[in-house]
Amino acid sequence: MSDHAPHPASIAVPAARLQAYVAEIFAAAGCEAEEAARIGRYLVSANLAGHDSHGVIRVPRYVAWLKEGAVRAGQRLTIVQETPSHAVVDGNCGFGQTVGPLAVDLGIVKAKTTGLAAIALRRAGHLGRIGDWGERAAEAGLLSLHFVNVAGGELTAPFGGVSRRFATNPICITVPRAGGVPLVLDFATSRVAEGKVLVASQGGKKVPDDSLIGPDGTISGDPRLLYGEIEGTHLRDATKGKGALRTFGEHKGSGLAFMCELLAGCLTGGATSGPMPEGPRRITNGMLSLYIDPGHFAGAGFARAVEDYAAYVKAAQPASPDGEVLLPGEPEIRTREARLAAGIPLSGETWAAIGATAAELRVPPPSL
Ligand code: NAD
Repeated sequence: MSDHAPHPASIAVPAARLQAYVAEIFAAAGCEAEEAARIGRYLVSANLAGHDSHGVIRVPRYVAWLKEGAVRAGQRLTIVQETPSHAVVDGNCGFGQTVGPLAVDLGIVKAKTTGLAAIALRRAGHLGRIGDWGERAAEAGLLSLHFVNVAGGELTAPFGGVSRRFATNPICITVPRAGGVPLVLDFATSRVAEGKVLVASQGGKKVPDDSLIGPDGTISGDPRLLYGEIEGTHLRDATKGKGALRTFGEHKGSGLAFMCELLAGCLTGGATSGPMPEGPRRITNGMLSLYIDPGHFAGAGFARAVEDYAAYVKAAQPASPDGEVLLPGEPEIRTREARLAAGIPLSGETWAAIGATAAELRVPPPSL
């Protein structure tokens, strides 16, 4: 399909079929079957959670990065430093969907022994939805905190400025619940994640009109401030725009984004966001993660205390008669249930962009 041919307005794809299609694309692009399946699983997991910005919309970009050598197939972690309670690990620019879970599993093993473990991951390929890593630790009964940056990925202006200085730097805190789905707080410190601007630029949901800032200080929701002129399904290039994302919460989000750079960029021994270093154009995530075993802290009373307090918060008087107080992670649980039943909605442009990448690799689209 040419860039200018009309695309269907939107399409709903069953999750399992979409996951298999993405896996086939990455297998055709050169990944081992296991890694290709893992990439499919985590990208679709982001869509199921409602975070389309970190879902299958990333397929064309990931495939392009693999071809350019900006991300590498089949990587493992290299341990740079290690004690019983911490490790510094290098992801060797491997897929985040491969080196991410390996780093989490190392943190789980250590925290189960010591009660508290820190894993500093540098040079991971894009780690996608960070909530997936918190949820993995929660499945093992652990709390976790994750601070993330993007080396070479500056997109966001600091409070009071218009020049790009931070990446979108997400923070995630996850708390397991007895017998239930964990509480997951997981968001970018930018007003919106870059992928949400990507979704908007491809005919998806618009971003709020205070998400971006122009070089003259004008506040706007126009994706062109990030990507420059936008045409069809061409890969969006965030170096082309003259503006920047804004941080959420004015100076507070800006301060958190700054600290993510120090924790995930400086402390991991990776790199802060900033002008792209010489060499292949490569965007990697750094992530400082803390894993906590509640058994070494509040002990058996922890699970009950979490349930009691969560119920108390949920019982707050809603702000409007038809309103409801939601806990962190609840919107994602609901979206997951709905999308497992009805399929994953994708804009026609996103579907066409994935189809174009698949066609180049001679992978036929699934029959729907
Ligand atoms: P968001 O603004 O949608 O916020 C999501 C968080 O807010 C979730 O914890 C959710 O449960 C909670 N939430 C939402 N509505 C709520 C409500 N009404 N009541 C209570 N809680 C509510 O998220 P975002 O900033 O757009 O980030 C999207 C995703 O992008 C995240 O998964 C993040 O990890 C990912 N991300 C990744 C990178 C990367 O470099 N890998 C960079 C930026 C963002």
